Amino acid sequence: MARSEPLLIVGASHAGIQLAAAAREQGFDAPILLLGDEPHTPYQRPPLSKGVLTGKTAEDQLALRGPDFYREQGIDLRLGVRVTGLDLATRRLRLEDGGQLDFGWLALATGARCRRLSVPGADLQGVHALRTLDDARAVAAALGASQRACVIGGGFIGLEVAAALSSVGASVTVVESQPRLLARTFPAAMSDYVADAHRRRGVALALGCGVRALHGHQGRVVAVELVDGRRIDCDLVVLGIGVQPNSELAEQAGIACDNGILVDALGRSSAPNVLAIGDVANMALPALPAVPGGPQRARLESIQAANDGARAAATLLVDRPQPLDAVPWFWSEQHELKFQMAGLPAPGDQAVLRGELASDKFTLFYLRDGAVRAAHTVNRPAEHMLARKLIALGARIAPELLADPSADLKPFSTPLGLRADLFHGAPR
Ligand SMILES: Cc1cc2nc3c(=O)[nH]c(=O)nc-3n(C[C@H](O)[C@H](O)[C@H](O)COP(=O)(O)OP(=O)(O)OC[C@H]3O[C@@H](n4cnc5c(N)ncnc54)[C@H](O)[C@@H]3O)c2cc1C
Repeated sequence: MARSEPLLIVGASHAGIQLAAAAREQGFDAPILLLGDEPHTPYQRPPLSKGVLTGKTAEDQLALRGPDFYREQGIDLRLGVRVTGLDLATRRLRLEDGGQLDFGWLALATGARCRRLSVPGADLQGVHALRTLDDARAVAAALGASQRACVIGGGFIGLEVAAALSSVGASVTVVESQPRLLARTFPAAMSDYVADAHRRRGVALALGCGVRALHGHQGRVVAVELVDGRRIDCDLVVLGIGVQPNSELAEQAGIACDNGILVDALGRSSAPNVLAIGDVANMALPALPAVPGGPQRARLESIQAANDGARAAATLLVDRPQPLDAVPWFWSEQHELKFQMAGLPAPGDQAVLRGELASDKFTLFYLRDGAVRAAHTVNRPAEHMLARKLIALGARIAPELLADPSADLKPFSTPLGLRADLFHGAPR
């Protein structure tokens, strides 16, 4: 594909805009058309479950790029435009309004949407999901009148919402069907810490129990009934039960998908000249240890994955391919706790705690075959940055040393410094 072919990006959010920006930065000078179905100027999503609900972040602080960016970069941004079909043979997109658009390169950056709850009462007024600015506006408006909120789902979004709602005075219960919080991402020790941290701050938790029904009065939610018969009275329900990728356009066109659009470390899908990035992409991750059959892959729902995937895809557009090789990381803010996660822990990893859980300042390192493979940090941003370097290098550090908060880990964070273990006597 010649680099002068026009680029059409579907999805005007973190991944799509980063791709357009990175393509221009790297010298791509063909036309770029960016389509998004939301009506708003593209905005940041992370504050929606944090400062937007507490009133600390105003809407005018949310714009992803300043007002002049699109014009200055020659990016044709069209909002409120929904793409409904993709024809690979003619390289043509169909739009909801009946229009059609031809493309040279196509990037699918269509993200993900919230899973809905499928129990009786799920469509009552007062029941909200949280993905878009419109959703956040609706939750914030409902919060003004709410005394008792129930958050269904103990993942990152649910817990951030719980923290935000409780910090502005609502009494909050989090319902989680798994026996522990954040079960998909965190090992048990971290889950227990997070549960304790929320309880200490007044958030009630109902763990290991699903929802049977939502009950209403005059069309508005008044209670959540759990499978074990318990009833949580509430006037606001926020769902945080995960997302599903918006991969239908690709699936209908016959592009390979499996929990998202399958792409390599440059964002290439199974169809020539069709890329996928961000939450919709199930991407190969060469920075992680390989698994039988090839590199690890994952559909990572994070700003870093959207940005880094977009930057890698942009290198392809300018014929200087540089596959994604960053260690995955992401963050979450709950109460005054800043969680930063680097790498992906696996079952069987040796967990090594540096610091004290009760102090709300610590790092839990995960070692695999003696090498640092992941780290979960709370309120220790400098240690998180260091951990990312250690993971990228696969540094081998003796667990006693990792666990000692007074030990200097910096010597391990450069390729040359890997020799530091000789001085500290770590196993090789
Ligand atoms: C409330 C909230 C808090 C978060 N907090 C954090 C955080 O603290 N840290 C972190 O790392 N990540 C966080 N995330 C995740 C992060 O926001 C996502 O990983 C990121 O938004 C993914 O970007 P994306 O561009 O791939 O997809 P999205 O942001 O989902 O954007 C996709 C866009 O494509 C549009 N679209 C879809 N289909 C079509 C179509 N057919 N035609 C036209 N347009 C279409 C969608 O409407 C949407 O605007 C949070 C997400 C949410 C919802």
